[in-house]
Amino acid sequence: MLEQDSGFIGDDLAWQADALCAEPRYRADDWFENGRKATDRAKRTCMACLVQRECLSYAIAGEITEGVWGALTGPERARLIDAGITAEAVLAYGPHAFAGLRAEHERELDARVERIRFGGIV
Ligand code: SF4
Repeated sequence: MLEQDSGFIGDDLAWQADALCAEPRYRADDWFENGRKATDRAKRTCMACLVQRECLSYAIAGEITEGVWGALTGPERARLIDAGITAEAVLAYGPHAFAGLRAEHERELDARVERIRFGGIV
């Protein structure tokens, strides 16, 4: 979401002028609510947003933990950061370039949860 200064890209926030979520037809709360439905609505809007790449890059650079930015939640962005994906890389290659990596991490996390559920050691 908008108007949080991460100190990235020379504080050039011009991309925010094209932010789909800033349009009045959308509920701003969707980007910061914890419910699955609200998050899904926010993510769907992000996927159609022209500045998704800039937005996600900005949030990663600023280590913003709250809200949906560039179609990713805070924990999802944290996984990218943990995997060594930088804000510059997101800006250069776009968020979809790392979809496979994200999927791999999600499979790994699912497997860990399964091991915990069945009493194994993580
Ligand atoms: S990607 Fe999503 S959060 Fe970012 S500016 Fe676009 S609609 Fe808003």
